[in-house]
Amino acid sequence: MRDDGNKRGQKITRRLYDARHILAVAALLAFGLVASGYLVLWQVLVGLGALFLAAAVPVRSRAARKRERLLQRERSEPLEAVVFATCETLADPAFILASGSILKYQNRAAVEQFGQMTAGAHLSSRMRAPVILDIVQQTMTTGDINTIEYVEKVPAERWYLVRVAPMTGFTSMKGGRELYMLTFRDLSESRRIDRMRSDFIANASHELRTPLASLFGFIETLRGPAKNDPIAREKFLTIMYEQASRMTRLVDDLLSLSRLEIKAHMQPTEDVDIIPLISHICDTLKPLAEELNVNIEVASSDDTVLVTGDRDELIQVFENLIENACKYGQSGKKVDVRIDRLNDAAHAVQVVVKDYGPGIPKEDVSRLTERFYRVSVEASRSKKGTGLGLAIVKHILTRHRARLAIHSVLGEGAEFTVIFNDQKR
Ligand code: ADP
Repeated sequence: MRDDGNKRGQKITRRLYDARHILAVAALLAFGLVASGYLVLWQVLVGLGALFLAAAVPVRSRAARKRERLLQRERSEPLEAVVFATCETLADPAFILASGSILKYQNRAAVEQFGQMTAGAHLSSRMRAPVILDIVQQTMTTGDINTIEYVEKVPAERWYLVRVAPMTGFTSMKGGRELYMLTFRDLSESRRIDRMRSDFIANASHELRTPLASLFGFIETLRGPAKNDPIAREKFLTIMYEQASRMTRLVDDLLSLSRLEIKAHMQPTEDVDIIPLISHICDTLKPLAEELNVNIEVASSDDTVLVTGDRDELIQVFENLIENACKYGQSGKKVDVRIDRLNDAAHAVQVVVKDYGPGIPKEDVSRLTERFYRVSVEASRSKKGTGLGLAIVKHILTRHRARLAIHSVLGEGAEFTVIFNDQKR
């Protein structure tokens, strides 16, 4: 306020200073007229007062006012261009609006997300959600910043943090007009991760609670009705051992996953020859394969196939895939493992694990690497599965910048292919 007063005072002084010559001549003339008796003193003082006032207060014609408005607009246009360019640098969709919810500008992210709007159109021509139009209106009326969470249902569910704010910095600049910024921050990914995390905790707790409940049940029976029954005790202890083992497998797999998540961004650097590695895995799985009556065959076009990786993690990957092929593809009686260096531009190495079992329904294939996803929970449990094996495989391969492709035809078996790109020749 005090600043405004000072400025106004300075302006008046400047105007009076500019008119100093006229004012001096008028004053001399007036006092001359008094001296010669043509006028009395009060008339001169009133006249001079009016003259000083006229010099201090500017009289602007309509034409002058119009000229000033045009000048102001010209001055504000380069300012607006800077504001629009700044808006364009934002990664989030952003709209610049003028009073009355009129679109002045939308950045590229806004065009991609909500489609192209014409400058000068009303915001409601594209944005139909009443909650958004309401907060825009509120901000334009009160000048306050407003933020809401908005969920878009169609075409796909998306969460946004919508914010409207007056561009006060711009408005207070010389020539700046009332402008408002409407932004949309996409929260969908973080919401999806939150949901996955809570689903994961719920699934893990459920998986652990089932064997735990069964353990409690048997302990109760052993303390009560079966207290003095050695045959029942032996039978129950065997089941309890199996349940405790299942819990251990689950905890081990969960720890494996969490360790992998911690080092997800660190790419392994070791050189690993996967031919002896896979043949070692097949030797370890031999007892299981024999028990299931499955024959594992390994073939390769080279004697040495080097892959940049982490030896222990690669063992985990191929052990999981070959063991799954033996367990779930048991009916096919055969598992083929093929290791090849591809003669492609990507210098890829490919390992295919193929079984001839029942195969996997098409709708399940893309979900197999999700934690706890199983085609049949019962089949997985009966084969000592945890539902985490392929999730671990996927995590390891991501860390190795490798990928897993799953192909299956129902009734003909399943094929799991691991592809490592950019390998040494
Ligand atoms: P699990 O511990 O249940 O074996 P995985 O993550 O290793 O968990 O596998 C997930 C599911 O994928 C299995 O439960 C099974 O339904 C399916 N699956 C995996 N490998 C095969 C295969 N070779 N043939 C058929 N189904 C398979």
